[in-house]
This record gives sequence, structure tokens and C-alpha cells, in this order.
Amino acid sequence: IHYLLEKRRDAYLSAADYCVHTDGLSPDIAVQEVLGLLQGRKSYGSAAAAFGHMVDGMEIPAIEREILEQALMGGKYRDIRILGIVGYPCHHSRSPHLFNTLFQRFGLRLRYTRFEWANLGDVMGLARSIGMRGLSVTIPFKENVREYLDEEDAHTQAIGACNTVVFCGGKAYGWNTDWIGVMKAVEHLRGCRAVLLGAGGAAAAAAYALRSLDMDVTVYGRDEMKTHAFAERFGIRHASLEGMGKIDADLIVHATPVGMDGDPKSLLTADQIPAGCTVFDLVYTPPLTPLLREAQKSGARIIPGTEMFVRQACEQFRLFTGIVVQEDTVREALR
Ligand code: NAP
Repeated sequence: IHYLLEKRRDAYLSAADYCVHTDGLSPDIAVQEVLGLLQGRKSYGSAAAAFGHMVDGMEIPAIEREILEQALMGGKYRDIRILGIVGYPCHHSRSPHLFNTLFQRFGLRLRYTRFEWANLGDVMGLARSIGMRGLSVTIPFKENVREYLDEEDAHTQAIGACNTVVFCGGKAYGWNTDWIGVMKAVEHLRGCRAVLLGAGGAAAAAAYALRSLDMDVTVYGRDEMKTHAFAERFGIRHASLEGMGKIDADLIVHATPVGMDGDPKSLLTADQIPAGCTVFDLVYTPPLTPLLREAQKSGARIIPGTEMFVRQACEQFRLFTGIVVQEDTVREALR
């Protein structure tokens, strides 16, 4: 029974609205706990006092603000569970639009907002005190958030970063869905020779994903010590970005911010990219980055960063709700 419960644990955590840990509780007390939850026995007064200033200070759309304020006060939206993205910055994130569209489509009493706040501890405190359902975590908090978790899965531990938190039964559970986003986008290339550009957070998820597909990986970074340590962690080779010649690989994965949001630069030019290779740029704003344009000129196949975003979002939605959503449904919701 313990084995089966452990195997199905993330499905239960995702599907349950509330959890009561009954270990060590008598049946009478456990029943009281469940009845308390069903009757909405919660104390919001202290949450409103402690976190009201945060909600006032954040840049969020009016309806999301109203729902948050009501959650703090225990008001008219009390049966709506809140989720959100925490980052600094994150107010331009597309996740609120995506998740709210999906919640509406599936008729769920959930609402997703954004917490652009410099202090992660404040957001984690708010999350626990208003009984939030979950959080997506973005820069610069993917590593630090691990301090606030009660449990994390083995992949999150190996990658050293968490981008998904689910709250259940007073505990915070952490997952990493970024590596799944990378892995699913390139699983058809299992066992190939791969080059990874960059040695930061997204690169760690990518290195873990590529290794899980038995690829022969070399990471290229700009800081020798950091790149060396990164390569050791994931059991891969390393080299310097400086003076890079023509790449000899079947797959190139780009995991630095170069080329993002109107930056015209690309780490590689067309003559450095072999015609038969696949170039996967994790940058997803814009969808067709300067690197992907260079790759197209060289005749390589391209995978835009939106493919990682869509696949990691499917997994995050499953962890938040217990519902398996099709990739095309997420693509459509993102339009
Ligand atoms: P990060 O942790 O800050 O790491 C950035 C990496 O890029 C570091 O290795 C950094 O080197 C390197 N770098 C930065 N500027 C550089 C430059 N001008 N030349 C060469 N290397 C440079 O950031 P991250 O979270 O990994 O994010 C990286 C990119 O991935 C971002 O564009 C982000 O939007 C994208 N991303 C996409 C998805 C998705 O779903 N598609 C998910 C996550 C992230 P140093 O260590 O030497 O500074």
C-alpha cells in the first residue's frame, strides 16, 4: 500500500482540493480536520494585516487584485483557490493568460495571478496563509525557492532548481517542469551528439534532459570555472564560448538570454551551424530569434523556445490540477 501511495502521490496531490495528513491522528481528530475544511474554517485577519501591503504594492490587473484582496479578507471569492507566478520581474509573463484560459475551459474554481515582488519569503508566507494552490517560479527565485519547500522530487534535487510549487495539507511540494519541456521537444533525437550554449538555470534543466536521453553533451560557457563545475555536475564535457569555431554536433541547444526581447545578437552565425543539425533556442520572445534565423540560413532544422514553454506548461497544469492537457490545447490558449 505504501509503495502504491508513493507511486500515485503527485496525482493525488494534484487532484485533491485539500489534504489532511492523518499520520498520528485519531479518526475523531481527522474527521474534525476534514469538517473544519469543508466548513471553510480559516482565519484571514492576520493574513490581511501581514500581507495587505504586498497586494497594494504589486502591479496586477484590477480583477486579479480584487480576487487576491478577497482571499485575504475571506470575502466573496473564498471558494476560489489562487495560483500565480512569482518572479522579479514577471508582470509581463504569459502564464496568467494561459492558465486562466485553461481553468475557464475546464470549469475549475481556480484563478492565476502574478507576484512581482523582490522578497520570495513574503510570497511564500502569503501563499501559505491564504491557502494558495500553487506557484510557478521564475528568475531569480528558481534556486532559492528550494529553502521554502517541505519536499521536492528527485529531478528537482538533481537539477538544483524548482519552477513549480504545489501546496497541499500545509506542505509545499516542489517540482521542475523545465527539464520535461526540453526533453519532450528533442526526444526524437535520443543518443545524438549535443552542444549546449550557456551554463545557467535553464541550461541545468537542459543538461539534465539531454543526459536523460543518453546524448553525448558538451556545454559551452563564458566563465571557465562555472562551466567546468557545471560540466562536472552533469557528467558532460565543457568548452569555452570564446573563439568557438564550426560546431560538430547533431543538436545545438541555446540557453543564454542572448537574442531575447529585441536583442539582435546571436552566439552563432550560419557558417558555424552544420546544415544537417537541429537548433533549439530556449529563448521564446520572439519566437523566431536571431539564432534561429542564422540556423535557417544554414539549412538546419529549428525548434523555437515556445516548444519548451508549451510542454513544461502542460506538465505544470497536470501538477496544479491533476488534468492531462493536450499540447495543442495549450498552443491554442497561448494565441
Ligand atoms: P540564467 O540562469 O541567468 O543563465 C544565463 C546563462 O547565460 C549563464 O550561463 C550566463 O553566463 C549566460 N549568458 C548571459 N549573457 C550572456 C552573453 N551575453 N554571452 C554569453 N553567455 C551569456 O538564465 P536562465 O534562467 O538560464 O535563462 C536563459 C534563457 O532561457 C532566457 O532567455 C530565458 O527566457 C530562457 N528560458 C526559456 C524557457 C522556456 O520555457 N522556453 C524556460 C526557462 C528559461 P554567466 O553565468 O557567465 O553569467
